[in-house]
Amino acid sequence: MIVYFGGERDSFYALGMVALPLTVLLWSAFRFRPIWTAAGSGLSVMFLTSMTGLGLAGFQPPPKTLDAVLLLAFMLLFGVVPLAVAALVNQQRRMNRRMLRLAIRDAEAQRVVLESVVADRTRELNEANARLETASQTDPLTGLRNRRYLANQIPADLAFYERERMRTGRADALLFALVDIDHFKRVNDTYGHAAGDKVLQQVSCVLTRLVRSGDYVVRWGGEEFLLVLRPVAREFVPVLGERLRAAVEEHEYDVGVPVTCSIGLAEYPMFMEGQQTPGWEEMLELADAALYWVKANGRNGWATLRPTTETDIKKVMTELRAGAQALLESGQLSLISSQQAQPRDPVGRSGP
Ligand code: GH3
Ligand code: MG
Ligand code: MG
Repeated sequence: MIVYFGGERDSFYALGMVALPLTVLLWSAFRFRPIWTAAGSGLSVMFLTSMTGLGLAGFQPPPKTLDAVLLLAFMLLFGVVPLAVAALVNQQRRMNRRMLRLAIRDAEAQRVVLESVVADRTRELNEANARLETASQTDPLTGLRNRRYLANQIPADLAFYERERMRTGRADALLFALVDIDHFKRVNDTYGHAAGDKVLQQVSCVLTRLVRSGDYVVRWGGEEFLLVLRPVAREFVPVLGERLRAAVEEHEYDVGVPVTCSIGLAEYPMFMEGQQTPGWEEMLELADAALYWVKANGRNGWATLRPTTETDIKKVMTELRAGAQALLESGQLSLISSQQAQPRDPVGRSGP
């Protein structure tokens, strides 16, 4: 329009004004997609060519062939330069986009690799933690569980047992059996510590073979084992005690040494009118008291302490540390044991 206006006014520099649309076209080459620059160039060339070629708006048509060729060359330049710039810019953009896509793909691949590495490391860490957790709850000599394991497991098991008892209405007894090898010190002193270790391993196998799956066999201390046996009918408790005792005594040990054990039993729950049953830690104290009663009454046997109509459980728990005998004599507890018919065996006479 400006060129047309300049031509109408007989300006000699009207054609020079094409610099303006050329600038706009160059700007569009950078700013817009090449199609818009191409359309703009085409329209401008057509418009300018019509004006100068047909001699509109005061322009003279080219008088000689050379002028026409020069005009054509100018118009070609006018059309080609913005398009070439647009094409270059577009190619650069496409390259950038491609590079970006590649970079994104690369980053994505790296992310996947990194995630899999992190997942592997997390799994390894979890496995190591699980191994560590198992190791911290396992006795290295016998492979049995240790006290830590029991302390972790038993509260949930007792809660489960209580729910089952409520549901079924059965009053079976969950049995704690504390097993202590008789005169074990003598095994060490006579046959050596390594032989003692072997005996411990074999006793642990004997006990493990006897229990059902779901029962616990724990190495409680040096030569003491704790079994936690799933609920059984209370009249079956003596049978179980005898079975354990006999199994330890009858096994033939590699080192050729006779081995017997004393067993303290405690039956959970203890039913007493208007009183709460002792918890598992107190049950272990009762089992311990029963065990030491057996130790004091001939060893190689079992005993279980039961409540009576007289039982005041708080008093029992306080006085238990002094031994079960006084509580039995005062009628606070009653006892069932393999030893009742046998004479008292002086400490230190029996065993290997
Ligand atoms: P009691 O019949 O009264 O139970 O007598 P005991 O000799 O079995 O009991 P005491 O507590 O006097 O001795 C236990 C011994 O067990 C002492 C200790 O050296 C031994 N002991 C503890 N842990 C281990 C072990 O891991 N390996 C071996 N070989 N011996 C152990
Ligand atoms: Mg002991
Ligand atoms: Mg012992």
